[in-house]
Amino acid sequence: MTVATETAATETLAESPTQPLASDLAALLADPSRVIDNPQVVDRLSRDFFWYSPVLKKLLDGKRGDVAVQPTSAEEVQRVLAYCYAHDIPVTARGSGTGNYGQAVPLHGGVVLDLQRMDQIEEITADGVARCQPGARLAALETEARKFGWELRCYPSTVVKASVGGFLAGGSGGIGSVAHGGLRDFGTVRAIEVVTMEATPRLLKYEGEKVHDILHAWGTNGIITRVWLALTPAVEWAQCAIAFETFAAAFDFAESVANSVDWAKRLVAAFEWPIPSFFSPVKQVVAEGKALIFFMIAAAQMEAFHELAKAVGGEVTFSGPHASFKTTPLLSDYTWNHTTLWAIRADGGYTYLQCGFDPARAREQFAELKRRFGDDILFHLEFMKNGQGVVVPGAIPVVRFSTEERLNEMIEACREIGVSVANPHVNHVEGGGRYREDNAQLLAKQQLDAKGLLNPGKMATFVPVAVTNRSAE
Ligand SMILES: Cc1cc2nc3c(=O)[nH]c(=O)nc-3n(C[C@H](O)[C@H](O)[C@H](O)COP(=O)(O)OP(=O)(O)OC[C@H]3O[C@@H](n4cnc5c(N)ncnc54)[C@H](O)[C@@H]3O)c2cc1C
Repeated sequence: MTVATETAATETLAESPTQPLASDLAALLADPSRVIDNPQVVDRLSRDFFWYSPVLKKLLDGKRGDVAVQPTSAEEVQRVLAYCYAHDIPVTARGSGTGNYGQAVPLHGGVVLDLQRMDQIEEITADGVARCQPGARLAALETEARKFGWELRCYPSTVVKASVGGFLAGGSGGIGSVAHGGLRDFGTVRAIEVVTMEATPRLLKYEGEKVHDILHAWGTNGIITRVWLALTPAVEWAQCAIAFETFAAAFDFAESVANSVDWAKRLVAAFEWPIPSFFSPVKQVVAEGKALIFFMIAAAQMEAFHELAKAVGGEVTFSGPHASFKTTPLLSDYTWNHTTLWAIRADGGYTYLQCGFDPARAREQFAELKRRFGDDILFHLEFMKNGQGVVVPGAIPVVRFSTEERLNEMIEACREIGVSVANPHVNHVEGGGRYREDNAQLLAKQQLDAKGLLNPGKMATFVPVAVTNRSAE
């Protein structure tokens, strides 16, 4: 179906059944079974975790592609894109579909480009750079990197399932960000290869600062076909849970550890009560009524770390190795946006926000939000280093949803007192908080996808150059 206009799109859909599209696409791949038109499978491959947001759920439920295509090489991606360009068919890239904002949900049907079979880890270089295809899963990459003495600088809590390409195009940071910043920082993404959406799709390599043209663009300005990711020397990690009587005491401790250069750390996540009560599979690490902090600290330092925690009134409720992603319990499964998942499982009336507190004023900002919203906002903090090297209390608070107006009121209240919000309840790149003020992603889209066929509707400020020109002819 075309995206020239909404009306034209609907008309074209009625005229073009899925079958000819599927057989045309099948002819472009080495193995035709990698084109899928089974409606149940296409439905599944058209969804992600947008339902975390009641606002997006209303907006995106039922949106789907017409057919899914699973390329195994950049050449196949080029052939599929050339065909779709010629026929004005939208293409929505998909990694593992764990995004939260409906990034991978096709708004205008067309092709779901499922990249999970492009999963080769091609090289871990001696100086610590991983080169891989976009469908490689982050956990597989971490495992491979560790064989050579390296590890990922940061990864999302969905590490086991999430793909490298999806992380670059749709994610931001996670475990490891307390030490190494987010994906955008400190040259972590060394280079990205993309296929353009043109009559003859090109294969381009973006390096250095240019990677920001493509990063966090939700697959709207090119299909990522290869990634070069900087790693960091591997550490033997251990994990522990420390409980405190109050959230204030937990914050003081978490903040001091997050900022201290004495501790090698990969995770500092703090939860206000009753959030820990939502972690039903790990009840043994939860202390009734108390705030909780989950840490990943170098194993060699763990004993000394316990002593420090106890000296400031903390109760060590759990401590153990972090041998692999199969370790149980795996505390990181309850951090970052997994916290939201456990909250929603416990009570479907919760949703979330993504905030950045001001390190100098965080305590007064917490107090002000509590004064205004009481327990309709529950604090879940994830400490992370920003691009300037300052460790900040990032937050993914669990919030009670009643109406969209009330949710927007909370967002406004945060912004009024200097708490930044990357709004997770919008379905376009510009609204989500990782859009660059210099319009880098938009400018790249104008050059690499002039017709606007890549994930159409997700770059709200984009005007299809080629389509406009054609209709003026
Ligand atoms: C429980 C839970 C916890 C999470 N925790 C975190 C977290 O800690 N940190 C974080 O940053 N995110 C987090 N997320 C969001 C998400 O899991 C991550 O961002 C993840 O890295 C996305 O990878 P994916 O392969 O699932 O991408 P997908 O959801 O498949 O895709 C994400 C976006 O990238 C685009 N895309 C995918 N592959 C390509 C490609 N090859 N070329 C161009 N565009 C492409 C898609 O079109 C889409 O717009 C969480 C989500 C959930 C549900």
